[in-house]
Amino acid sequence: WVAASFTKQQFPLVRLSSDSAAPRTPHFDVIVIGGGHAGTEAATAAARCGSRTLLLTHRVDTIGQMSCNPSFGGIGKGHLMREVDALDGLCSRICDQSGVHYKVLNRRKGPAVWGLRAQIDRKLYKQNMQKEILNTPLLTVQEGAVEDLILTEPEPEHTGKCRVSGVVLVDGSTVYAESVILTTGTFLRGMIVIGLEMHPAGRLGDQPSIGLAQTLEKLGFVVGRLKTGTPPRIAKDSINFSILNKQTPDNPSVPFSFTNETVWIKPEDQLPCYLTHTNPRVDEIVLKNLHLNSHVKETTRGPRYCPSIESKVLRFPNRLHQVWLEPEGMDSDLIYPQGLSMTLPAELQEKMITCIRGLEKAKVIQPGYGVQYDYLDPRQITPSLETHLVQRLFFAGQINGTTGYEEAAAQTESCPVARLECSDMISQVQAILLPQPSVAGTAGMHHNTQGVIAGINASLRVSRKPPFVVSRTEGYIGVLIDDLTTLGTSEPYRMFTSRVEFRLSLRPDNADIRLTLRGYKDAGCVSQQRYERACWMKSSLEEGISVLKSIEFSSSKWKNLIPEVSISTSRSLPVRALDVLKYEEVDMDSLAKAVPEPLKKYTKCRELAERLKIEATYESVLFHQLQEIKGVQQDEALQLPKDIDYLTIRDVSLSHEVREKLHFSRPQTIGAASRIPGVTPAAIINLLRFVKTTQ
Ligand code: FAD
Repeated sequence: WVAASFTKQQFPLVRLSSDSAAPRTPHFDVIVIGGGHAGTEAATAAARCGSRTLLLTHRVDTIGQMSCNPSFGGIGKGHLMREVDALDGLCSRICDQSGVHYKVLNRRKGPAVWGLRAQIDRKLYKQNMQKEILNTPLLTVQEGAVEDLILTEPEPEHTGKCRVSGVVLVDGSTVYAESVILTTGTFLRGMIVIGLEMHPAGRLGDQPSIGLAQTLEKLGFVVGRLKTGTPPRIAKDSINFSILNKQTPDNPSVPFSFTNETVWIKPEDQLPCYLTHTNPRVDEIVLKNLHLNSHVKETTRGPRYCPSIESKVLRFPNRLHQVWLEPEGMDSDLIYPQGLSMTLPAELQEKMITCIRGLEKAKVIQPGYGVQYDYLDPRQITPSLETHLVQRLFFAGQINGTTGYEEAAAQTESCPVARLECSDMISQVQAILLPQPSVAGTAGMHHNTQGVIAGINASLRVSRKPPFVVSRTEGYIGVLIDDLTTLGTSEPYRMFTSRVEFRLSLRPDNADIRLTLRGYKDAGCVSQQRYERACWMKSSLEEGISVLKSIEFSSSKWKNLIPEVSISTSRSLPVRALDVLKYEEVDMDSLAKAVPEPLKKYTKCRELAERLKIEATYESVLFHQLQEIKGVQQDEALQLPKDIDYLTIRDVSLSHEVREKLHFSRPQTIGAASRIPGVTPAAIINLLRFVKTTQ
């Protein structure tokens, strides 16, 4: 179609995309507002699905900018990276081209909870991201500040109050589109805070979005306020690394993307991280200067999992807190002190930092600061990330109240007393993290994840196809979005493996089998090549497992074949090769040496051999988990009518409180309704009866 009401003069688009087939008229299928973590994924996902997409952002040169931590992945978030990659998203591939220190966390635990993580070179990440964005077919990139939304009457078959049909830029120009995705991060009424000074900004050096925030509020969206912060950056050559604990990267490096066998840089050329700790002098400076620190005094909810050093001192007095000194890039002179996010007046920041071991002569190049911003209650969006209130309007990223930090978890690694006093959730993360020293705290992944899903669904909406929803049984993506849309969040949300019911099934190694095939068939966001590779892997795994099940010998024969394994079975029954592979000391190589035919061929592809070992490890538990998954899937299949008015409906017996909760969250399935706090089992049974009579 062509935009009837448009002329080129009305919209002076400077096309920055290299795609010559993109439309010349200012009418797009999808507009994405914001070029951060969520926006870049959303724009490229929509374009991959075949939508003519416009990415509108303040500045092209900040596309792919990491606002805070120069790192990606971690526990739980490494899973999300694998899943985003399985849907052909960008960040994993770009991290494989831009990292300076790759490490898998949680190695001592099973592969189901390994957390792929990397320190990233900021400059390289941005460069690689911009190259990718500007070379994505069907994607146009335009600089501009969006001030308002263009709204029209709703489609008759839908119940939303109105429909978005475009955006108004700050210069008054307009662009129309079928779907709009908002990924404005911390910019909605953003306020930067250092000491007692506050000024409006989305992040240091960037203007906030005020008009857009007002529009959303006028439309009736429930808006909350959150805060986060960033540490000061320290000159590398002012730090005495020689007296600190050094952490070296893994050798070999494990890539994030299924499409890569290795990363761009050899382990020996990667950069180390260093560990130091705070001390009582740091506490003293914080406590003495609280009256000069308005970010700490503000009542706005701060990120529980990314607390500033001030809030850690207040919550856990007299403790030593970890500070990881992380490189910002290969040729960067800056060090990011993970764990020292602070909003003290700039002159006090250096004073505090120089009290810390190894940092006695540290020079602060950029002070730490806090940012306070509007977020939208995520219960106002559906699992496809479309808003309930405005049709075809999608929200993704930090705007939905998510965060990426995990530093609270790592802070007490060497400080066991504090562990006992932490909240349940923090203790759970600590339980996962404690066995192994590691760098912690990463940005972005929750936002990238939402970006991909919003991009896919905004595009599917244009072509009137059913939404692409990942359920809790299919991926961490499903858990993240289901938690946000059913539970909401009053403090920045972050993913933990402990939030995931089926974590033995939802592993980083099998994200392609879980999502690539669906992404190709149901969303159209996956390339042919990636799809074919995932199909090959799936059939090779199935074939390999069935071959391993079919090879059976007595335990004494196995002992002869593989002397290092001691099979513990009291019975004289034959033992399957699959069961032998479960033993820690056995891998596909040793098994194939013992039984070359037919196993040798499964050792030719390293990834296949490693994945067969993981499948063998979880085989028996997965059988039981599969039954539970089926039960949940049955609940998920029971759809609630979209147009149901919970406040007035008479045919179902529900308390007023339950009605209000259902009215606000608008769950799409019985399963989602059952997870809303306060919706009682009795209410669910009544809803179930109601659904059955209406279907
Ligand atoms: P962003 O990456 O912030 O991107 C938003 C984009 O939208 C920007 O490109 C902006 O220019 C554009 N934009 C905004 N309004 C408009 C408009 N009206 N018109 C056009 N373009 C617009 N998160 C973490 O997970 N961990 C952290 O450690 C962390 N620390 C942070 C510290 C600070 C000081 C700040 C500012 C943020 C921090 N964040 C942190 C949040 C960080 O914003 C997210 O990690 C991540 O960048 C959010 O991704 P996003 O895509 O939602 O938003």
